[in-house]
Amino acid sequence: MYVPDTIAAIATPAGRGGIGVIRVSGPAATALAERIARRHAAGAWTSHHLYRARICAADGTALDDGLAVLMRAPRSYTGEDVLELHCHGSPVALERILQALFAHGARPALAGEFTKRAFLNGKLDLTQAEAVMGLVGARTADAADTAATQLFGGLSARLAGVRARLITARAHVEARLDFGDEDLDLDDGALDADLASAHREVEALLATHRRGALLRQGLRIALSGRPNVGKSSLLNVLLGAERAIVTADPGTTRDVVEAETELDGVPVVLCDTAGLRAASDAAEQLGVARAEAAAAAADLVLLVLDTAAPLAPQRALLARGEALVVLNKIDLPSAWSADDEAAARAAHECVRVSARSGAGVDALRQAILRRAGAQWADNLPPLTSTRQRDALARVADALAAARAARAARLPPELVAVDLQAALEHIGTVTGAVTNEDVLDAVFAEFCIGK
Ligand code: GDP
Repeated sequence: MYVPDTIAAIATPAGRGGIGVIRVSGPAATALAERIARRHAAGAWTSHHLYRARICAADGTALDDGLAVLMRAPRSYTGEDVLELHCHGSPVALERILQALFAHGARPALAGEFTKRAFLNGKLDLTQAEAVMGLVGARTADAADTAATQLFGGLSARLAGVRARLITARAHVEARLDFGDEDLDLDDGALDADLASAHREVEALLATHRRGALLRQGLRIALSGRPNVGKSSLLNVLLGAERAIVTADPGTTRDVVEAETELDGVPVVLCDTAGLRAASDAAEQLGVARAEAAAAAADLVLLVLDTAAPLAPQRALLARGEALVVLNKIDLPSAWSADDEAAARAAHECVRVSARSGAGVDALRQAILRRAGAQWADNLPPLTSTRQRDALARVADALAAARAARAARLPPELVAVDLQAALEHIGTVTGAVTNEDVLDAVFAEFCIGK
């Protein structure tokens, strides 16, 4: 709960420095200014005016010669009356001044409490409050850039755009609810387009977080497919070196070969597995079992299909789960009909390559990065916290559900429920919808005085 008492803390880091700043926020800030800071000027304090002042202890002893500024509500960082004392940067002198403020009734500020008050008074949204912490804690210029973008509302503005589209969509769906199939001038195509573009934007924002995680953790890719379709050859072109042994005998790659490379700065581990087929001997059986385990542990499965051999014996693999399909050996005459390729494309995203000539390999690299969520438009403000990521993932889920409900022609009330959920989750990102636990978790990571 928000009790508007008066808080005080040293805002500059511990240690000696030229200047040390003490910050006070709350209804008693003006009274404290008058007691603590004896100005050379006469008359009432003017807001946002910097005064030279003698800073005094509770018993009137002069403690320092400094500057004092009073910023009256609501035109202050916290939205409350704020007093800042710019003193000499001595930890001992600053502590004595702080004690004088406590003697006059202020209490010590908790970690992040000034910024929490700014949030509660609507001066910042939650992403901007997190950006304050990000900027204070930035260790690289990139991190500082990201925090600054978010501080100036980059992420909030994007989310506001998505929110506006969803509100329009909800109004549309509610009109259908109220008026049924009456002759309404409603463009369902526009509704679906709005939902699709909002969904895309949310996924793109999520990908910004994914890329950060990818740069740290890397990506595991398993190559799967029947023997002799070109998995080892593909591994080699992706690595740019002869790493796996390539032969024309089916079943050569019996064990799992792992090799590391990098795609656009993302560390990648490629696992070339034994060909997936009914294994004849024991060693091959073991290889097939390992292939399945490697595919299960991978972030992405590349299913390699040989277009120079009939699809029929390879077809069952298309139903084995999520994969990016590589249509290999396009340098050779195709053994596939147009229907075969259409069937593959209907099941999964497909990229045509020749592991021998290298044709299509760049497009494959791009597709891998896109599928892994490692690519996004550079102009998007990256998500900076797992809290933002988790909340936006819920928005994406709700939008996927709304679109699925539309596609299945489910009743509008079901679409409306999903849209309402998406809007609420967007509200949790910016803090428009929030609870005390979330706030405590966010602000507990701040330092005192911020
Ligand atoms: P794996 O068993 O799936 O790992 O297949 P390999 O990489 O060992 O390749 C099997 C055979 O197909 C080898 O003789 C390769 O040289 C050949 N091969 C692989 N990819 C291509 C390709 O794109 N074009 C052609 N013409 N041959 C290929």
